[in-house]
Amino acid sequence: MPEVSMPYGLRDNRLVHVDDLTEDEHGAAARCVCPECLGTVLARWGPVVRRHFSHTSNNCTPSVMSLVHRFAQEFIARQPHVDLPSYTTYVGANVRGRDYSKKLEYPAARMQIREASLEKTMGARLRPDVWLVAPEGQVESNCDHLAVEVYFRHAVDAEKRDDIATTHLSWVEFDISDLDAECVNATEMARAVGQLHRWHWLQRSGTRSAQFNFEQDMQWHASAFVPARPSTVPTVQRSKPFRKLQEAERQLSWAETLLRQRRTQKRTEADNIAWFASLTEIQRLAVCGALTGLPLEWMPQHFYQVVAGPRPSGIKSHGWAWQLPLWSKFAHKERDFTSLEAAGWLHAVLGDRQERNEYASTNGYTRLAGTVHNFLLNLTAQGLLVSDPNVRPAERKFRRAPDAAAKLDRAVELSVADGN
Ligand SMILES: [Zn+2]
Repeated sequence: MPEVSMPYGLRDNRLVHVDDLTEDEHGAAARCVCPECLGTVLARWGPVVRRHFSHTSNNCTPSVMSLVHRFAQEFIARQPHVDLPSYTTYVGANVRGRDYSKKLEYPAARMQIREASLEKTMGARLRPDVWLVAPEGQVESNCDHLAVEVYFRHAVDAEKRDDIATTHLSWVEFDISDLDAECVNATEMARAVGQLHRWHWLQRSGTRSAQFNFEQDMQWHASAFVPARPSTVPTVQRSKPFRKLQEAERQLSWAETLLRQRRTQKRTEADNIAWFASLTEIQRLAVCGALTGLPLEWMPQHFYQVVAGPRPSGIKSHGWAWQLPLWSKFAHKERDFTSLEAAGWLHAVLGDRQERNEYASTNGYTRLAGTVHNFLLNLTAQGLLVSDPNVRPAERKFRRAPDAAAKLDRAVELSVADGN
């Protein structure tokens, strides 16, 4: 009976390639069993014999192909990290007969691995060869999980691609189909794992929501912003941000000192924006309290109110973090301003604390600007601002109402009386 040349043995439930044995792990010293029948195998080599394992007693013939596949799975699962290639795709939308598309680019990145499992069951039909999970809060690769399919003899086919598409997960194929079955040892695998061209993205999580968002954004972009019906009484959804307001109140004297200093120095508007943007939300509130003289702890509901549509609003911050700043900047002084002016300032000040303001409506409103406009309409309906309703939104001028101060005083009294 001829011996079957087998490159892998099993030791401690892990595949070992015969090339990776040291010189003195010859024969039985390899301490390996056959991965198929679990019978003892001996490591053999000599001057003219290629390294291999051989059975001592039976004529079992394990499939080298599936052992290479398993070796690759185990190898990837042991990696501390994997380097993933960049991925480019397009999202598209058709709105009113016009086609729009946008390129999505994910840069190449290293994914750290916290946890790995083999053939994890996902739904009825999917069991990725390796399932990798990144450490909590990893931002480097923007990839918190990854399903890996090893392609040695069987590539992912159309049917499987369809199944994968139902998962919304990040999925790659690791291609080692060109490697020689007998030579896939640890050195070869380490080299292969490090080669970016072997990793093919099948799907990236996030592209589906990007597609959904893009459709919504193009709807927004292709239509005019229509102001919402204002509410005559402030609606507050969340309970009063009492702790935040108290914190801001405690920083009031700090803010007053700072403002006094800044008034003695000459500053451009850009300086002022950069300075205000660099403050924390709490510090900004303190500055607004110092500017307006409003008691922060008893802040009127007007400045943490719910503002209707658009959804998403384009502003990630809570109402309390942007409404009083807007008032302090624009309405505290006696002058006219438009919602687009106010939105431009807020956009600059909030920096990255906002979302999806890439596109403007046909009448020039980003989502953030639309939200600001609706807020100003609310303040008008609530008697704090005055404006002429008979002009288009972009030209509509807002100005503080003559009796705004008295109204705010009354609102503060109410706030104190309610104890909320
Ligand atoms: Zn066997």
